[in-house]
Amino acid sequence: MSTERITHLIGGTPWTGVSERTSKVYNPATGEVTGELDLASAATVDEVVKVAHDASRAWGRTSLTKRAQVLFAFRELLNARKEEIAALITAEHGKVLSDALGEVTRGLEVVEFACGIPHLLKGGFSENVSTNVDVYSIRQPLGAVAVISPFNFPAMVPLWFVPIAVACGNSVVIKPSEKDPSAVNAVAALWKEAGLPDGVMNVVHGDKEAVDRLLEHPDIKAVSFVGSTPIARYVYEKGTANGKRVQALGGAKNHMVVLPDADLDLAADAAVNAGFGSAGERCMAISALVAVEPVADDLIAKIKQRMATLRTGDGTRGCDMGPLVTGPHRDKVVGYVEAGVEAGAELAVDGREGPFDGGDDGFWLGPTLFDKVTPDMSIYTDEIFGPVLSVVRVPSYDAALDLVNANPYGNGTAIFTNDGGAARRYQTEVEVGMVGVNVPIPVPMAYYSFGGWKNSLFGDTHAHGTEGVHFFTRGKVITSRWLDPSHGGLNLGFPTHD
Ligand code: NAD
Repeated sequence: MSTERITHLIGGTPWTGVSERTSKVYNPATGEVTGELDLASAATVDEVVKVAHDASRAWGRTSLTKRAQVLFAFRELLNARKEEIAALITAEHGKVLSDALGEVTRGLEVVEFACGIPHLLKGGFSENVSTNVDVYSIRQPLGAVAVISPFNFPAMVPLWFVPIAVACGNSVVIKPSEKDPSAVNAVAALWKEAGLPDGVMNVVHGDKEAVDRLLEHPDIKAVSFVGSTPIARYVYEKGTANGKRVQALGGAKNHMVVLPDADLDLAADAAVNAGFGSAGERCMAISALVAVEPVADDLIAKIKQRMATLRTGDGTRGCDMGPLVTGPHRDKVVGYVEAGVEAGAELAVDGREGPFDGGDDGFWLGPTLFDKVTPDMSIYTDEIFGPVLSVVRVPSYDAALDLVNANPYGNGTAIFTNDGGAARRYQTEVEVGMVGVNVPIPVPMAYYSFGGWKNSLFGDTHAHGTEGVHFFTRGKVITSRWLDPSHGGLNLGFPTHD
């Protein structure tokens, strides 16, 4: 099988230089190498940032009407090509096609939100705050901004930021994950086709070297990062030390609390979908199921029934769950399963054996369920980022709440109950940024903002929605006095009314 060269896109054109370093891209369902990715040096990053910086001047002055027209055209193209983008995601990430299509659709919603940019950028106006004095506010673009994205949503996470940044009049340099870089290149081509001027949207591929240069470069004015907590913290600290505006979304350990009065069929469906969808490689995946006794035995029985029907295999073959993204990541997750067994958790369903409907060398691990997990075990404390669901049994609502609030992460959580008062109490008391009530993955719509608390977000601005518009613009307030010539102002030759 031939491997494809995957390279940077600068000013709408593929980079023609020779890369000193490259990395391999795999099809996780077969284990085959499908691409060779150029990794940017600091000098290549400088080349890209210069193009973006130069393009930002004219784009920032382009009318709102023209900018919105490009957004509408891009929306149509992305909608028309979403199956192609989904196929690229499945080929490099491994998630099943329906899931890949779902991620592009969620990204489309942000584009649709950004189409309303003329309305979103309307300022305030206070007339005659003092005699002949008006005050008004405007929001202006920042210049060139960087987006650094993770492997697990190669299309959707960039789409959380790029449409809003561009609509606000900025230019963008995006650095996708080196594990599944092709979707971003394909989407960048659609921006060009939609009429976005060359240089406004650029892609630079790479690893720490490229990220470090983006964080240091004086012409990068803001950084939107999504990835694991240690790197998010690093990006936030280094970016802000260099005077940049930074939003850095980190890792997660999401808890789903099931109260004894919950609809257990609904809860079991939700736990299976949210625990094993996309092989658990979602920042909003449920990885800790908190069963408030006496609900655990019945709930686990229902979950096991459903798990027995799941097919794990190649994402193009209509399976329920695909492989993990790389061999080393699969091995790491299997290491957690072994650690859980060793620590004394009860392995209720072992996903290590298969069967797997895919290549022999694919990065496989089936859905895995642990019962009787305690908070000191590594399968509970760590973000595993794989298809491993841990059931923690607790005696009461208060014990469940204490457990969730003691966790250092605070991305998403859900409560399953038929008691509206208990649900309302949970949404008030829980220290987590996104809360679902009988909804396991409470990802906000594009016109709200996405973001967690505690170690799941560094910075204070969440992604998309009005917070996204604020992040990608700076406010300015103008106080102006214009003397009225008819009432004692300067005589500039205007006719008077008296
Ligand atoms: P990662 O932190 O390994 O990588 C994210 C990005 O950082 C990539 O572009 C990568 O190239 C870059 N990077 C990696 N190591 C770096 C280093 N040492 N210095 C500078 N840059 C570096 O994350 P990942 O494995 O690609 O993605 C999975 C993680 O992302 C999980 O922890 C998941 O929870 C998190 N995530 C969070 C959200 C959220 O909204 N909070 C959304 C999606 C994913």
